[in-house]
Amino acid sequence: MSPGPSLTRRQAIAAAGGALLAATATSVPGIAMAGRKGARVHVVGAGLAGLACAERLAAAGVDVRVWEARDRLGGRTLTDLQLVPDGWVECGGEFIDSEHSAMRRLCAAMRVGLQDLEALDIPGQSRDLVAGRVRRGEWASGPDARLAARAARDLRAIGETRLDRLSAATWLGRAISGWPTSAFARYRAALVRGEYGVDPAALSAAWLVTDLAEDVRAAETGEGTERYRVDGGTIRLVSALERAIGSGRVTRGAQVATITSADGEVRLAISAAGGRRIEAGDRVVITLPPRVLANVDMRRSGVPRDVLRGIASIAMGTNAKLIMPFAQASWEHAGWSGDGTSDTAIGSTWQATMGQRADGVALTMLVGGAQGARIAGPDHGPATAASVTERLSLVDRVAPGTSNAARTGAVVHAWARDPLARGSYSAARPGHDDSWPDLARPYGLVHFAGEHADPDYSGYMEGAVRSGQRAARQVLARL
Ligand SMILES: Cc1cc2nc3c(=O)[nH]c(=O)nc-3n(C[C@H](O)[C@H](O)[C@H](O)COP(=O)(O)OP(=O)(O)OC[C@H]3O[C@@H](n4cnc5c(N)ncnc54)[C@H](O)[C@@H]3O)c2cc1C
Repeated sequence: MSPGPSLTRRQAIAAAGGALLAATATSVPGIAMAGRKGARVHVVGAGLAGLACAERLAAAGVDVRVWEARDRLGGRTLTDLQLVPDGWVECGGEFIDSEHSAMRRLCAAMRVGLQDLEALDIPGQSRDLVAGRVRRGEWASGPDARLAARAARDLRAIGETRLDRLSAATWLGRAISGWPTSAFARYRAALVRGEYGVDPAALSAAWLVTDLAEDVRAAETGEGTERYRVDGGTIRLVSALERAIGSGRVTRGAQVATITSADGEVRLAISAAGGRRIEAGDRVVITLPPRVLANVDMRRSGVPRDVLRGIASIAMGTNAKLIMPFAQASWEHAGWSGDGTSDTAIGSTWQATMGQRADGVALTMLVGGAQGARIAGPDHGPATAASVTERLSLVDRVAPGTSNAARTGAVVHAWARDPLARGSYSAARPGHDDSWPDLARPYGLVHFAGEHADPDYSGYMEGAVRSGQRAARQVLARL
């Protein structure tokens, strides 16, 4: 997600029981007993949801096993420690809102520090490059504020259920004169692509309108702002969680291919370096991203078909980050902070290395929607020369002279092409209320976790952590 005006996502999918769930998630969960002695629980996927779940289970004395297909942990969080010497940049999940209490509590419990972005003094101002011109906050007080006020009114008058039947593009078309071609319309569409990862036509208006209305309150209270990052990178949290779980319980390079349950037992067929193996256990927690779950044969898992179909139909953003290293923040000489939104290939930008004492700096450029899906280059690896040249000429328009300090080695992270993610984070398409399955409850011996399985904070690391800890509580209550 990008630092932008859309802040919180209290979505309309809170399934029955969602409120209760949210309440228990924010209370401090005590360490429950492991239940039946020797109970074994499998966790599939070692992103934040899987790790947060396994940490709770391990602390409760459960014999927990985590299976991760990649050769690294962290999933859609990925810290690059090489791009900028002595620095770190985030290629996936990055910002933590001030109200993301489960993430903040988990970092504190794991003794991992947070970087407070509000405490940083970043020189320069934010600038937007839209409809061919550089804009210096020209929409902030007028059109942006009117749009937020209209959202608050429509939310009251129309309601989330009816708004959910509309696309964000339809609602924006009613609210913005000159949609979709005016400069303000193009700016707003670029914000939607960066924040939600999908084009406005593919997003439920309920999400956008709820968030915009929330912006009014958040601006007053300061809540919801993307205020923190994990100091040193999310990799620190991931490593601390692995230590807490016990590295012997976490297996990398282990791709779960089939899950079955019968006679009070789950069985996992796993492809790993040593060949195919079968693992049995009492319960399983599945944390795979929605599109990736389709690769696992779940026909005899006990999970109803319509639930599996519902998971497969959850829309995923196509956010991609292109991160470019520089010898120094040359844009600051031209008065630019590095922050901005654009309807061009640079999308939303910010200084990836803000507040770090590193040998150099980096700019992150985040795009979503069709732009994110089409970005040139590999899923994770070197950006193409043409895409670097194009972006350098664009940042030079925002702040002349920026490209003078560019270093080689820009990288691209196109999450929609990553076979083990197949998207950046979940997003609600119009009418999603009817199709998003209830994943906050178990189906037989199978529990779901993952950002898409949290009714209040889907899309965020917060949702991943909450869902993992919720699944752990449910497992412990049933062993
Ligand atoms: C570009 C980008 C920017 C983002 N920005 C932010 C942000 O600023 N703030 C924020 O809060 N969130 C952000 N997010 C979202 C956040 O990163 C995710 O919501 C969160 O990390 C998801 O965690 P998860 O555990 O649910 O899933 P994942 O991290 O995807 O974990 C699932 C794991 O399952 C593994 N796996 C897949 N298939 C198998 C299999 N068959 N067997 C075994 N393992 C398997 C995967 O390799 C993966 O490790 C961003 C994401 C992206 C991509």
